[in-house]
Amino acid sequence: MSKIQMQTPIVEMDGDEMTRVLWKMIKDELILPFVELNTEYYDLGLPERDRTNDEVTHEAAEAAKRLGVSVKCATITPNAQRMEEYKLKEMWKSPNGTIRSILDGTVFRTPIIIDSIKPVVKNWKKPITIARHAYGDVYKAVEIRTDEPGTAELVFTGASGKVSRKTIQKLFGAGMLQGMHNSEASVESFARSCFNYALELGQDLWFSTKDTISKIYDGAFKEIFQKIFDEEYAKRFNEAGIKYFYTLIDDAVARVIRSEGGFIWACKNYDGDVMSDMVSTAFGSLAMMTSVLVSPDGKFEYEAAHGTVTRHYYRYLNGEETSTNPMATIFAWSGALRKRGELDGNAELAAFADKLEKACFDTLASGVMTKDLASLAEGVEVKSVNTAEFIKTIAEKLA
Ligand code: NAP
Ligand code: MG
Repeated sequence: MSKIQMQTPIVEMDGDEMTRVLWKMIKDELILPFVELNTEYYDLGLPERDRTNDEVTHEAAEAAKRLGVSVKCATITPNAQRMEEYKLKEMWKSPNGTIRSILDGTVFRTPIIIDSIKPVVKNWKKPITIARHAYGDVYKAVEIRTDEPGTAELVFTGASGKVSRKTIQKLFGAGMLQGMHNSEASVESFARSCFNYALELGQDLWFSTKDTISKIYDGAFKEIFQKIFDEEYAKRFNEAGIKYFYTLIDDAVARVIRSEGGFIWACKNYDGDVMSDMVSTAFGSLAMMTSVLVSPDGKFEYEAAHGTVTRHYYRYLNGEETSTNPMATIFAWSGALRKRGELDGNAELAAFADKLEKACFDTLASGVMTKDLASLAEGVEVKSVNTAEFIKTIAEKLA
């Protein structure tokens, strides 16, 4: 059997711990036997990031920009405990944060849905994709706590020297204050990434804020989305038969719960943080959440939404059997290969991605699944297996 060829490389970003183990298994058993894999490889595992003073992350992100399609393994974001564990030179920044800021992208998270796992919300029939604006607001806020009365003011000194000043509140006792910001450029990029991805998926785009209360701040978000939609996307949405829909965040929550799914929900930073956890939990399992970073100029980086599954890794190192679910990581690969196939007019490669996903669905439908899913599945005779057996079953179906 001749292998499927690839004209253009995809960027491959390797990672850490259990997902690094999965990465190799997926490549060796599900991809390399079928595809003449063409990748530009970057090792974003923590030891290599430390050795290169995190240069490798920047190089990988630049490559992602240049080649347009990448696939990333989960990586450790260092904290104090990891500094010690890996004897790091520095507490390197989150690779995802670095890549996101270089690509100026938005992260879209979508659950993989299967018949045997019923969403908690019983009318949800199709996936709901959450797009979270990943800049500013409360995540870049400055705060003060005061133990005396006084006057809180908001002061802005323009580059021109013009000063704007508003009283926030006269405090009559101890209290707390918070100042936050966002930038038009960031909201514009967010809006374009969302509109592009809606066209990509052929699904409606919802956007919600609280502009009735926050008339200026949230009002600006609403206005920017509407302006970009009217000027750049309305016609294309019309042609694609999809809609852009704005509503208040509380109304959106009610409608999402009553909906049958099948749309993209764009959220401000905090709303996206909270709502993505709610939606992914209600759909079933973190191990079944895919994630794609889309830049406003149409670059795609695919990954799993979960982390490096540290607890399983320590068990694996001890020689214990692990049943880590590789679904989201496999779908990161299939997503990237399909996109590369589409961009290069390589129908065989795109079709391989479909077949790989179908082999996964067939495996799950036959009841063969990892432990995390086995406990949730209904209506099938479940055979709970370890990771290697699960991947082997997929490989057999794929072959
Ligand atoms: P995690 O790796 O997502 O795992 C949390 C728990 O969720 C696991 O212990 C496991 O539960 C379950 N789980 C997650 N993925 C699973 C899978 N594929 N199959 C089966 N169960 C799965 O989160 P974490 O433990 O908080 O973080 C570990 C490391 O990942 C951290 O160093 C963090 O910095 C990093 N991280 C990276 C990314 C990224 O690169 N995108 C994202 C998040 C976190 P049980 O133990 O109960 O089985
Ligand atoms: Mg969160």
